[in-house]
Amino acid sequence: MASIGFIGLGNMGAPMMRNLLKAGHTVKAFDLSEPARAAAALAGAAAVSGAAEAARGAEVVVTMLPAGQHVTSVMLGEDGLFAAAAAGTLFMDCSTIDVATARRIGDAAAQAGHAMIDAPVSGGVGGAEAGTLTFMVGGPVAAFERARPVLEAMGKTIVHAGGPGNGQAAKICNNMLLGISMIGTCEAFALAEKLGLDHQKLFDIASKSSGQCWSMTTYCPVPGPVATSPANRDYQAGFAAAMMLKDLKLAVEAAQLAGATVPLGAEAAQLYSMMVGAGDGGLDFSGIIHLLRGRR
Ligand code: NAD
Repeated sequence: MASIGFIGLGNMGAPMMRNLLKAGHTVKAFDLSEPARAAAALAGAAAVSGAAEAARGAEVVVTMLPAGQHVTSVMLGEDGLFAAAAAGTLFMDCSTIDVATARRIGDAAAQAGHAMIDAPVSGGVGGAEAGTLTFMVGGPVAAFERARPVLEAMGKTIVHAGGPGNGQAAKICNNMLLGISMIGTCEAFALAEKLGLDHQKLFDIASKSSGQCWSMTTYCPVPGPVATSPANRDYQAGFAAAMMLKDLKLAVEAAQLAGATVPLGAEAAQLYSMMVGAGDGGLDFSGIIHLLRGRR
């Protein structure tokens, strides 16, 4: 079992950290929020008063922070984690951040004599609580193999996607496709409504035909056909539209830097930004159907 420093005890980080404790790891935990630190202590972690303190003496350091700027500020600099940790510490950044920053930080870790992977997740808060997250991992093979037993305490599917930053690349490519396919599925249902075609009939046909996709078969954006989809509980998230917008923005930004053409990804980002701007950022992302119908 490893001694682990865990930084970022929010909606995702707190349950992930608890699963590390359950698996028998010892954890020193830090978050800027005092209530989050108190909850970590109640769960059995040693709550510490600074990020560097969590990293000192740890074999593994996990970060689960909002965005690239937070990860950069925590890792780098004189008071940063790379300086505080003993040489050879294994860093796992599980936050969803931009690919360029993930690669820059991966390089800085190597220069400081540490091993590092980027390991963003899918599966949401439910997956974090159940320990069934999917980890998409970028980084050297040796670091990935070292990380695997720790990741297994928090997730079920663990995939090595290639070198540094490739975990983030996999995450945003997948979520860009998801955002686009959800909008397409919503458009099909909205058109069916105007044409007098019943939701269930469209589902029965499209879910078995060439139009089928996960947004249709598992996460159907209208109530009825898939009992577990958020449409059946008034679009309570699920996967919030604000999170989808974050990932789409990361995808469009990465495409600009890499010279890739993503017109549908850019359009999806625009539509989700309208949904969030209208105050519906907390709704499930399948609730974009209201915007496409022109009513809530
Ligand atoms: P959150 O806002 O609930 O948690 C982030 C935590 O980081 C907060 O508790 C905050 O106090 C802490 N924090 C910020 N700066 C800090 C610092 N400098 N030092 C210590 N703590 C600091 O966010 P979340 O929902 O837990 O998401 C975390 C990451 O996981 C994000 O990158 C998000 O995109 C990604 N993600 C979230 C979900 C989801 O469903 N919530 C799903 C997949 C991926």
